[in-house]
Amino acid sequence: MAPFEPEIVTTDGQLLPAAVPADAALSIRSATVSYGDKPAVFSVDATFPSGAMSAIVGPNGAGKSTLLKAALGVIPRVSGDVFVFGEPVEKARDRIAYVPQRASVDWDFPTTVLDVVQMGLYPRLGLLGRLGGAMRKEALFCLDRVGMADFANRQIGQLSGGQQQRVFLARALAQDADLYLLDEPFAGVDAATERAIIDVLHSLKADGKAVVAVHHDLATVREYFDHVFMINVRRMAEGPVDITFTTAALQSTYGGRLAATHLSELALSGAG
Ligand code: ADP
Ligand code: MG
Repeated sequence: MAPFEPEIVTTDGQLLPAAVPADAALSIRSATVSYGDKPAVFSVDATFPSGAMSAIVGPNGAGKSTLLKAALGVIPRVSGDVFVFGEPVEKARDRIAYVPQRASVDWDFPTTVLDVVQMGLYPRLGLLGRLGGAMRKEALFCLDRVGMADFANRQIGQLSGGQQQRVFLARALAQDADLYLLDEPFAGVDAATERAIIDVLHSLKADGKAVVAVHHDLATVREYFDHVFMINVRRMAEGPVDITFTTAALQSTYGGRLAATHLSELALSGAG
């Protein structure tokens, strides 16, 4: 994709939105989101390339989940614009699949694994001709991709954390989207599930889809992702992982929260 366009700062200090790159999967321009008086995300510009795996990285409370929700268009922005494949997000919702942070989901609701995945198919009902059989087949296919086909009839609340995460990924796959937004997909899952999820995400990328994941494990950023966006309420750094995920960027994003030795290890590890 094209390198990041230079931004223009006007004399009154306003950041003018840079041109929206047409080949960006997701482009966020000057987005500010507040829950009360204090912005959780402040004047953020972010560009996530298509056909790539992007990580959103930052400390707890940095606004990572808020940024994803703003990108989805599900929470109101104080200001700013969001473009998905060059279109305003409001027009492109059906091209986005979202896997929420696991902790934010009520796991007690009585529903089966198959039902959860079929929810992902509802927007495509027209295409599938409202045929129960076709929906079931498609849902089972998606469950199979995440290694969960044998659990189709289980109650979702009875699964382990890793299994629940796989099911939510299967639901996202059922949406057949072009942009996949995931909030900490590897949090609290075992190593086998992490591997299974990363394999599915890499296969999405191989199919030309864009993947944007909030990622909490700094040690695997280099291994898993092509592109990184670092946030602490404001944008701290963004770009290709090799050149962006540096000690200096980690320092500015996390401040004193990471020990210096840890910082340099992280930025250097996996550099190959
Ligand atoms: P992260 O995902 O990076 O940990 P969040 O986006 O969840 O951060 O939260 C950013 C900030 O906004 C935090 O200070 C958090 O407490 C606050 N916040 C998040 N959600 C809400 C909400 N629904 N109501 C009020 N404040 C919220
Ligand atoms: Mg979060």
